[in-house]
Amino acid sequence: MTFPAQWDDGTDPSTPAHQVHWYDDRTAIIRQALHTNFEGPFLYLLLGDERALLLDTGTGHAPLRPLVEKLAGERQLVVAHTHSHGDHVGGDGEFDEVVGRSAEDVAQYFGFADWPDGVVQFDLGGRVLDIVAIPGHHASHIATYDRNTRLLFSGDSLYPGRLYVADWPAFRASVARLAEFVADGNPVDWILGAHIELTGKPGQDYELGAAKHPDEHELQLPPDVLTELATVVAEAGEEPVRIGRDHFIVYPV
Ligand SMILES: [Zn+2]
Ligand SMILES: [Zn+2]
Repeated sequence: MTFPAQWDDGTDPSTPAHQVHWYDDRTAIIRQALHTNFEGPFLYLLLGDERALLLDTGTGHAPLRPLVEKLAGERQLVVAHTHSHGDHVGGDGEFDEVVGRSAEDVAQYFGFADWPDGVVQFDLGGRVLDIVAIPGHHASHIATYDRNTRLLFSGDSLYPGRLYVADWPAFRASVARLAEFVADGNPVDWILGAHIELTGKPGQDYELGAAKHPDEHELQLPPDVLTELATVVAEAGEEPVRIGRDHFIVYPV
């Protein structure tokens, strides 16, 4: 279980459109190159015995399907999203079938009886994922927990960067729910989000829209960063407020 020494940071325009890193033999981390779009999102491909789950399709500025099909092999491909902002659904059109984009679509597909409450399981075949609804950044946002690798895929709700909060009460409740899920016997090795917007200096972000990220913060966050996020947004109270920390910036919009 490894991470690359360095992600494609946008400083070399000749790199491939996607950087693929196998965290283990069934977990691919895919970074869409910053030179294709400044968002430089991270996509995740999780392989089970029968199915493969692709979390997000990127901005749509680089062909994705041939790469994903090569990586997924013969498995049935399920294309879903951490949430439905444009930089995560941009490649949807390349695929025959994708999970819908509204909270209702997501709840129905994964089988939430009482969205956003409850945790549902999604089995890829020998690899059970737990899905937790975490609206706040976006209404359809989910977190995905992989028991096998103890990875938590957090999308745009927690990553080393600006955590844009559209719905403050929902975000506070979601972060509390997710922290509780982890504390409740679901240990996490690493939290993996969908962007990097912080530099190597604590709490310092790149300019909005920067397409070059020299000296990036690491992608992976240790689990205590989720505890920290839950604590600071709980303490912040009911009024939206910007909160700068070493590994994230809570950024109400
Ligand atoms: Zn987003
Ligand atoms: Zn995003």
